[in-house]
Amino acid sequence: MSPGWRTALVTTLRERCRVCFACVRECPAKAIRISGRQAEVIPERCIACGNCVRVCSQGAKQAVRSIAQVEELLASGAPVAACLAPSFPAEFPELPVPRLVGAVRALGFSLVQEVAFGADLVARRYRELLAEPGRRSIATTCPAVVSYVERYHPRLVDLLAPVVSPMVATARVLKRLHGPDLHIVFVGPCIAKKGEDRWPGADPGVNEALTFGELREMWLEKGIDPADASPSEFDPPRAGSGAIFPVSRGMLQAAEVPEDLTLGEVVSADGRSAFVDAVKELESGDLDGATRLLELLCCNGCVMGSGMTSTSPLYKRRALVTRAARERLRELDEGEWEGEMSTFADLDLGRSFFARPVTVAAATGADVAEILTRMGKQSAADELNCGACGYDTCREHAAAVHSGLAESEMCLPFTIDQLRNAVREIAVSHDQLASAQQALMHSERLASMGQLAAGIAHEVNNPLGVVLLYSHLLLEGIPEGSALRGDLETVAAEADRCKKIVSGLLDFARQNKVSLSRVTVDDLVAQSVRGVVVPERVVVEVEHEDPGLVVELDRDQIVQVVANLVRNAAEAMPRGGTVIVRTRAVGGSLVLSVTDGGTGISKENLSRVFEPFFTTKPIGKGTGLGLPVSYGIVKMHRGDIDVVSNADPAAGPTGTVLTVRLPLRGTRGA
Ligand code: ADP
Ligand code: MG
Repeated sequence: MSPGWRTALVTTLRERCRVCFACVRECPAKAIRISGRQAEVIPERCIACGNCVRVCSQGAKQAVRSIAQVEELLASGAPVAACLAPSFPAEFPELPVPRLVGAVRALGFSLVQEVAFGADLVARRYRELLAEPGRRSIATTCPAVVSYVERYHPRLVDLLAPVVSPMVATARVLKRLHGPDLHIVFVGPCIAKKGEDRWPGADPGVNEALTFGELREMWLEKGIDPADASPSEFDPPRAGSGAIFPVSRGMLQAAEVPEDLTLGEVVSADGRSAFVDAVKELESGDLDGATRLLELLCCNGCVMGSGMTSTSPLYKRRALVTRAARERLRELDEGEWEGEMSTFADLDLGRSFFARPVTVAAATGADVAEILTRMGKQSAADELNCGACGYDTCREHAAAVHSGLAESEMCLPFTIDQLRNAVREIAVSHDQLASAQQALMHSERLASMGQLAAGIAHEVNNPLGVVLLYSHLLLEGIPEGSALRGDLETVAAEADRCKKIVSGLLDFARQNKVSLSRVTVDDLVAQSVRGVVVPERVVVEVEHEDPGLVVELDRDQIVQVVANLVRNAAEAMPRGGTVIVRTRAVGGSLVLSVTDGGTGISKENLSRVFEPFFTTKPIGKGTGLGLPVSYGIVKMHRGDIDVVSNADPAAGPTGTVLTVRLPLRGTRGA
């Protein structure tokens, strides 16, 4: 026996799902859960309408298959009847009916029956029901609609007209004609038929339900070409206007229910959203009070069922069915048909329905509001209700998130916003990374230069000491006025200059010692500025944001740093200007900056200013050691020094800012 109602008739092939939400959008029962970026059918919620199978472009939704079970029945040797749903003309337009019937027989079926005869009986039963005064009914031959009402509108179950479907009616006719041992296989356009009346104790009427697609597969497997099948006729009883059932309103016409719109007695709704709306409005009381009959189909007529392989559009399929019905009625032997109808007038076509409510933890207003906020929807204006997530409104989506059916990432505008932010953040961290990389390369280059400088300084230091010592000793021994004295004085002075250079190199290479003491920043800066001879038109201004700030550092060394910076700033303003020295405490650091409105440093020079002996000044004026020495000293204090400059008047005012950061509490470092 085919799967029961608790088993999923539709399953998801996870590896194929590309999470486009088309299935969520198309599912009238909201029976598809998106979790872990995968769509998954929830068996208890699924009404097996097959909409998701139809719309999934990736073939990621699969209906349960019945071919193996049908083959087993056929192989058993017992008689098996095939009952063809009246939508067959829309599926097999290429086949004359006798070929179609012959090809079905060729598979081993002993009887080939028209379900349309069952539809004739069902239509007559509906006509009788509607004649009962004051009765209000939901009339449907669609198992998906029945499933929907039983699960989602259990209070309306009693309104479902207690009439079996044409499939079951046909099965009951066949059982009466051929005995209870006859096996029956329904062949039709619908996968919901596989689950019709399959709960324990129910009588599903048929043993198995195949789709037209599966019928074609069986022909292929058995090597049967239906176009070549020996022609054959349907077994009696033959059908009448029941042939028109698979198009919308077909059932009303077959039942001869007058559809006078001014009376408002009949409401006909088909298609996945229309039937849901109609049921909801019936329950909420919005429907016209005069409405006595709600005729519902889940698809736009059974011709659009998901078990069809046809790719023809709706009205083409309808035309194929109506034309076939017309021909059928033209050929119909009315007397014979009436005879058959009266033979089965007493056939029991009754059935019952059961409320099988699907419970979902209802979301409160606060839950929904919280989830909406999480999805970046702060106000009603942010609720775009764009439907991209598969839910009609943002609130429905939020409620589905609450009950675990959906994920907030399904909100397209929200996800786009998040992606934009992520891209922005990546761009920022990319920039940071690039500048960190540059700084690293720069400090690596300086470090290797430091090693070289330290090596040279050490080697030169000793011989230089000897030169200095002897030149001073010689100077002491040479009488005033001696011809050699002038030369010796030059030797001693130049050796002194070398000593300073060597000491500067040792500073740069961080080879000198730091001797810490507590000083106020105000005194430190004043002393530094005093030591610099600035040209007349240059003014040095000092601004302390935190006056009296005490800091622990090597006073002489830092005085040298500030003096170097102020000197450079002054030298960069040959026509005069203002040098501003600013200090402040930030976190645990002293931040000292020296700003000038001078010529600025060109881009290509900017990365070289801390290299020893790099200078743009004329020989004799610049040594190219001021900044390297300052760099070394600041690093020995475990601080930082950096430079920002503009030398291009087209890009804005030119000038340079050198900023030094030093820890307030000194630590000796290398
Ligand atoms: P020197 O001053 O002996 O040239 P420095 O190491 O002090 O050596 O400076 C190196 C170079 O950096 C300078 O020659 C100059 O090109 C540039 N420089 C330093 N500070 C400034 C500044 N404030 N404005 C413009 N250029 C500067
Ligand atoms: Mg200098």
